[in-house]
Amino acid sequence: VEKAICVLEDDAAFDAGRGSFLNAEGRVQLDAAIMNGADLNTGAVAAVERVRNPITLARRVLESDWAYIVGEGALEFARQNGIEECNPWWFVTQEEMERWSRHRGEVLYYLRDGAFYRDVLGSPSDTVGAVAMDSGGNIVAGTSTGGAPNKPVGRVGDSSLVGCGIYADSTRGGGSATGPGELIIRVVLTKHMVDLLSEEVGAQQAVEAALRHLKERVGGCGGLIAIDRWGRIGRAHTTNLMSSAYITEGLSEPVVEV
Ligand code: ASP
Repeated sequence: VEKAICVLEDDAAFDAGRGSFLNAEGRVQLDAAIMNGADLNTGAVAAVERVRNPITLARRVLESDWAYIVGEGALEFARQNGIEECNPWWFVTQEEMERWSRHRGEVLYYLRDGAFYRDVLGSPSDTVGAVAMDSGGNIVAGTSTGGAPNKPVGRVGDSSLVGCGIYADSTRGGGSATGPGELIIRVVLTKHMVDLLSEEVGAQQAVEAALRHLKERVGGCGGLIAIDRWGRIGRAHTTNLMSSAYITEGLSEPVVEV
């Protein structure tokens, strides 16, 4: 999960790591979390700058005595643990610089009629996540994001909050979410989805039901990927776009949906 997310963080196409949306001050601040469904251990970081792969930092937090470290403290923790740091400009792409210059000072907010910023902004960019089950049935989930465009300095969305943008419990299943954090937080979306899972209600039904709940209860849209403890896969989105892929035993190539 960590390795898959590192690849996506380094890929400028996504709103995570390099290529993230810039905040109101034109800086990149990153949030990430990882959760081990075997013992419900979690590691999360938020509003961190300069750390090339925030998911690796989140994993290091998971392996420590702590669960969640933010801002300057997260950078300090990264330094103490030898996690790769880079020049803040490494994260800033031409496309995001132009987007920021074009919309500078505007509130690109998605609470307005539930309309998502991607509708307003044109070219899409997305939070990234991964969920995996190993041969022993253990489920791990991770999520990483650059958050919302023009967000205030220090704003943290759902992605790194356990239960909201991520959850994994190997006795039920795990998932990762994308979409407007301010709305996802209100319904604790990913935990809600995991709680729906049962032998009768598989991952696909659960992600669809959870997104319906997000819409009906708070008028939000979003996307979810999931695996349940029976190994069934779910993915759905009520946003315009969400690319996803999965691979299972027996498949020679991943199944991709763009
Ligand atoms: N969930 C992210 C956040 O609110 C944004 C996104 O997924 O597009 O920070």
